[in-house]
Amino acid sequence: MCYPSRRMSAINLLDLLPTELESLAETLGAPRYRGRQIGNWIYRKGVSEIDAMSDLPRDLRRSLDERAFIGVPAIERRTPSQDGSEKIVFRLDDGARVQSVLMPDADRLTLCVSTQVGCGFACAFCYTGTMGLERNLGAGEIVGQVLGAARTLEPGRRLTHIVYMGMGEPLANYQATVTSLRLLTDPLALGFSPRRVTVSTVGLVGGIERLAKENLRVNLAISLHATSNEIRDRIMPVNKGFAIEELLAACRRFPLPFRQRMTFEYVLLDGVNDRPEDARRLVRLLKGIRAKVNLIPFNDWEGADFARPPLPRVLGFQSVLLEHGITATVRWSKGEDIGAACGQLREAVPA
Ligand code: SF4
Repeated sequence: MCYPSRRMSAINLLDLLPTELESLAETLGAPRYRGRQIGNWIYRKGVSEIDAMSDLPRDLRRSLDERAFIGVPAIERRTPSQDGSEKIVFRLDDGARVQSVLMPDADRLTLCVSTQVGCGFACAFCYTGTMGLERNLGAGEIVGQVLGAARTLEPGRRLTHIVYMGMGEPLANYQATVTSLRLLTDPLALGFSPRRVTVSTVGLVGGIERLAKENLRVNLAISLHATSNEIRDRIMPVNKGFAIEELLAACRRFPLPFRQRMTFEYVLLDGVNDRPEDARRLVRLLKGIRAKVNLIPFNDWEGADFARPPLPRVLGFQSVLLEHGITATVRWSKGEDIGAACGQLREAVPA
């Protein structure tokens, strides 16, 4: 496929924070408030063409158009699921594809976004991990998924929550992830409450420590998935670099906003990590952390070496946590029938 070369070298306005839009306006010889108008057109009015910014002087529009574009990625495919969720495949400017998943639940509408094309962490239970890492996304490509998905909604519907749980490890693409979080939560850009935004990590301790200092006040979710280093080493190679104790020490130091709890994701794998003693060990590990646990019965994919535990074992695991005062929900993943469930996202690499 052929892509215009100007666009490949031009500035994606979605990469820029509101203050940077103001500086760009200044660079183009306009007053800074023009930058706020540009942001308003992109984030409030949802335009995709610079020429549509009708209250900007024609000269400014022309010089902006020569240097920049609004990079909302094209939608290649939308696949609805029987449970109401929907997988959206976006095609990026270089032809790479990433997936986002829309997940309605009562009065919530959550979008799960990707931060990388593929993923290099190779968790053994995860289909995305079999792709390997193709490349990082830019901040604008992450935010672009939000704007692109929002455009598919019927009038009156809007996204309420954003989770960074799609393809890739957000903290392995640290700078773009943080810039996209600022864009999501800045009232002059997308304006989501930080309480409605969750970053999920495989447990990169250095990234968690850095994120703790960013004052973003977003939620953190940890993909834990095992309670001993022996099992975690086996199913999550990242554990060989950061042992469970080190990871949980970083979680304890993370400044959780008032009343917020840290989420621990735990995929239940038949005969691997689903015994009552695993549940009891999890209780001990989470001591001293304001935690809630999402239990995710394994979502099968072709070629996987794992199976979903029988229902009584899932419920037994949950009750051990509940008996010890830990909020634990079983998350029957949405989008299972369309390959959009947790750990199932994968997209063919373009030829
Ligand atoms: S679970 Fe997350 S970190 Fe692990 S391979 Fe899958 S996408 Fe990567």
